[in-house]
Amino acid sequence: MKLNLTFEEMWEKIIACDYKYDGLFFTAVKTTKIYCRPSCKSRKPKKVNVAFYDDRKAVEAAGFRPCKRCQPEVEHSPHDAVVRKVIAFLVNHYKEPITLSDIAEQIGLSPYYLDRLFKQETEETPRSYLEKIRIDKAAYLLNSTKLTNLEICYEVGFHSPSNFYKVFRNLKNCSPSEYRRGLQYAVE
Ligand SMILES: [Zn+2]
Repeated sequence: MKLNLTFEEMWEKIIACDYKYDGLFFTAVKTTKIYCRPSCKSRKPKKVNVAFYDDRKAVEAAGFRPCKRCQPEVEHSPHDAVVRKVIAFLVNHYKEPITLSDIAEQIGLSPYYLDRLFKQETEETPRSYLEKIRIDKAAYLLNSTKLTNLEICYEVGFHSPSNFYKVFRNLKNCSPSEYRRGLQYAVE
């Protein structure tokens, strides 16, 4: 499945060692011929040496070997594939009003079982994961576009500005405007 993320977004996620996108894409380093998970804690490569792949077979076919540190070739649990499918679905459909039944139908599991499985594997519900993906997208848009807070609120799939501001603050410890002004690092 083609992942709805730009190079810049993927780059930000690997700089942040963001585990939320593990398994969805891989960072291939042209100079070392090694590939990693987004969350890998090894020293970051230069941006110019990086290529992103959203498929493990493709990255290996291109001649890259798995990193020994983050072991991107290892599935941590038999449910990894299901969880990855759910997250890829959320990343690609974050703008839409997604319900648990939509996801369940997409994956072919009952909503109840899916919710439980996802929670067991990620300690999040699909709903809270979706909020994180939406807020990541909002943060990216705040830094890379001139869209207003309100435009971004709707662009990333929120339907009420007050809910957007609340969730943004919960996850980023600052308001969208503060984030845009680069104040997110000043707030603990
Ligand atoms: Zn690695």
